[in-house]
Amino acid sequence: MNKIRVHVEKGSSSSYEIHIGTHILDRMALILASQAWARRYFLLTDERVFALHGGRVLGVLRETGLTVEEIVFPGGEESKSIRTCTELAEQLMERGADRTSALIALGGGVVGDLTAFLASIYMRGIAHIQVPTTILAQVDSSIGGKTAVDLPSAKNLLGTFTQPKAVFIDLAFLETLPPREFTNGLAEIVKYGIIEDPEILEDLQKGEEALRRRDPSFLAGIIARACRIKKAIVESDENDRGLRRILNFGHTVGHAIEAESGFAVSHGEAVAMGMCAAALLSERRGHLSPPDREKVFSAIRRAGLPVRIPASLDPEGILRGLKKDKKKEGEQIRFVLLKKPGLPFVNGGIPLSLVRETIEELRA
Ligand code: NAD
Ligand code: ZN
Repeated sequence: MNKIRVHVEKGSSSSYEIHIGTHILDRMALILASQAWARRYFLLTDERVFALHGGRVLGVLRETGLTVEEIVFPGGEESKSIRTCTELAEQLMERGADRTSALIALGGGVVGDLTAFLASIYMRGIAHIQVPTTILAQVDSSIGGKTAVDLPSAKNLLGTFTQPKAVFIDLAFLETLPPREFTNGLAEIVKYGIIEDPEILEDLQKGEEALRRRDPSFLAGIIARACRIKKAIVESDENDRGLRRILNFGHTVGHAIEAESGFAVSHGEAVAMGMCAAALLSERRGHLSPPDREKVFSAIRRAGLPVRIPASLDPEGILRGLKKDKKKEGEQIRFVLLKKPGLPFVNGGIPLSLVRETIEELRA
């Protein structure tokens, strides 16, 4: 089992560990039992994850003598709301959860964000533990301490910064992940390769076959590297003011595409298209060489992700989405661009007209 320590300034504990491995639930149970973070645990998860893995997780934890009860809710982004949060809080209260209780988030980013948000406000804050079960949650949402629920009109608008007591990344969960969710998560790994560690892109290329088979040891290696990158970035910018912005690479246009498609284009696919747009913009502005731009495109393609924007999406709709985005400064948009793979920078002054041309060029 691989361990990564995350150091944070805020919160009750100054640091916590990310544990990574295959079939690490036994270890997790022992750690929970020995750490005594809580007297009672509440396992929060969505219906699908509960059906696939809930019984096993509860079994292992209870065998170690831990008191654990499950709270299961419907999956999907619709659940990441203040209403679900209130309902879950009511359930906790009815079952007598108090400040000596802790929450365990078992699931993807929706379960993770919602559970962490609830833990941060229930009785002014109780402990929580992240057990991410999608690639996206393992390399992105479970690390960094951002919690959130959505408003009907704005994603992630309500949230807090709260760190978990620990994160347990068990690659065995990925065996049941649907192909589309798997590829979705790869987009974030490719992003880390592009913004920080181009060796990841080479490894993904060399390991194409292992990746297709979801080989646990290959995945463990690549996911651990991705986690280390996210950890290093959030450690240096816990409150999301500077360096952390580079994590937005591909997300400016990506979010606008996701919204314009009515979420028919998945997050990973949209980010892939957004990364292509950012790379092309970087080339157009003379920052990125054409061969490096091609390197970015081929890494995205090889991961099974799209490098073209569907012609069915209205470019003006995408641009309107960009204008609504908080990254806008007048008629200029703030973008994370590239000088080369591994060398991103933030550019505050990209004219909308250039973004329009880039989107047109990428349309299939
Ligand atoms: P998700 O949680 O909706 O999971 C996707 C689907 O996969 C769900 O239907 C879920 O039931 C299912 N699933 C989960 N694990 C499974 C498994 N092992 N086997 C089979 N099915 C499984 O989505 P996600 O992509 O994991 O996360 C997206 C969310 O993460 C968004 O709400 C986004 O805003 C958030 N996010 C947060 C941060 C952060 O820093 N907090 C960062 C990135 C994304
Ligand atoms: Zn993302």
